[in-house]
Amino acid sequence: MDNNKNTVMEIEAFIRSDQYHFIKFQLKSMVAAHSTMKDNEILNAFKFHSIDKVHALFHDISESQREILNKLIEIEEEAQVRNVLAELKAYVIPFTKVTEKTVAKLFPKIKKLKAPPLEEIDFKAISYLGWYDNRINRKFMIAEHNGKLIGLQGTFLESQKGICSLCNGIEELGLFMSIVKSGKETYTSRGNYICRDSQKCNQNMITLDKLQQFIEVLKE
Ligand SMILES: [Zn+2]
Repeated sequence: MDNNKNTVMEIEAFIRSDQYHFIKFQLKSMVAAHSTMKDNEILNAFKFHSIDKVHALFHDISESQREILNKLIEIEEEAQVRNVLAELKAYVIPFTKVTEKTVAKLFPKIKKLKAPPLEEIDFKAISYLGWYDNRINRKFMIAEHNGKLIGLQGTFLESQKGICSLCNGIEELGLFMSIVKSGKETYTSRGNYICRDSQKCNQNMITLDKLQQFIEVLKE
């Protein structure tokens, strides 16, 4: 047990939240393969392919970090997935610390902006921080872009179930409308259907690609 603790302390966190969710997705498909594929050779090929996809996410990682990922090949059952995910959580890089001050700073024009319940948020489980303020019917988002925190905001109109343009999951959506500068003095509004529940959105997010594209289009 103590040994374990030491290793955790020595090895630096190297997994982003979206990568953690990607690993979770791969492990679940490996478990599903175990219960359906009868041919061992095919099963092993499938598992190695899944682990290769995980490795492909990480470039400059140390030997010990790589070893942690190599252990994933042993996964066969759901219960193992839970254990290994709990273990991996120690190596997840948390989202940049956000305080009420940060929130106020990122949205200076909004008076009396209500920050989300920051103490309740698991910063290792998010790729962006999103919340809805129903008093002013606006959705707020804080994300990391080029190493800095940025704030996005827009009106939010509830919509049907569909594919979220941030996480690709099938969820209850809302139309996030934001005013964007399109020329020197011209503005246009841009709309995107995104998850109503930002927590679910973050859980579904297995790559940052769409979130980064979304930010590129909307940032001022
Ligand atoms: Zn989503």
